[in-house]
Amino acid sequence: MQDRLANETEEQRDHRFRLISDRLSNETEEQRTHRLSLISDRLSNETQEQRAHRLGLIHDRLNNETEEQRTRRLGSMQDRLANETEEQRAHRFRLISNRLSNETDEQRAHRLRLISDRLSNETEEQRAHRLGLIHDRLSNETPEARLNRLNTMRQTSHIRRGITNEQSFQTAINVFADVSCDVCKKNIYPPQRFNLRPNMYNTLLPEELIALDKITTCSRCNNHIKKRKIPPTAYWNKMMPAEPMN
Ligand SMILES: [Zn+2]
Repeated sequence: MQDRLANETEEQRDHRFRLISDRLSNETEEQRTHRLSLISDRLSNETQEQRAHRLGLIHDRLNNETEEQRTRRLGSMQDRLANETEEQRAHRFRLISNRLSNETDEQRAHRLRLISDRLSNETEEQRAHRLGLIHDRLSNETPEARLNRLNTMRQTSHIRRGITNEQSFQTAINVFADVSCDVCKKNIYPPQRFNLRPNMYNTLLPEELIALDKITTCSRCNNHIKKRKIPPTAYWNKMMPAEPMN
């Protein structure tokens, strides 16, 4: 059978592919499930040697394909992807995700090397095409698909980094505005935090702040205080009118 395949003409090959394609597009869900389970069984029972042989054949075929064959192959993949149902898509992603989380370090290194080779060998045109496809896909995605995509990305990078603890993952990807300005009480992100020594400004600040070693302020409050002015947003400004008169 292999000999026959190796010796077939372009025309015979096309004909064979057309037959396969017809058969596949006419198969019932049941037939499809059956076929995929046969393939899955065969793949999970193959020996190292059989696997190497199979991958070698695929590799040869890909290396020897003409530009036209390549275009046709990619076109049919694209059609299939464009026509897949939400369910099929979810299933495909689950398979990919499983494969990625089960891959060994060696397999991972190999995969990344292949991607890197392909990217560094792509022409300007291929690059533009690739980016165009990504752009189309992203601009057509539903909010739900987007959420799924981000979740998958999050999970994969989660696995990649070997972070098993949800809290440390959150900390790794998020910078929280979890500190508030001691003067105006606004939440401030780390890059906008300034530390001041309150005892240097004891004519401006209320007693409870002067009593502290150090206060943290936002940049606006920091600027005012450094110029020896009470920030308009200072919390004791607001409280003043409410305080009882003596
Ligand atoms: Zn402030």
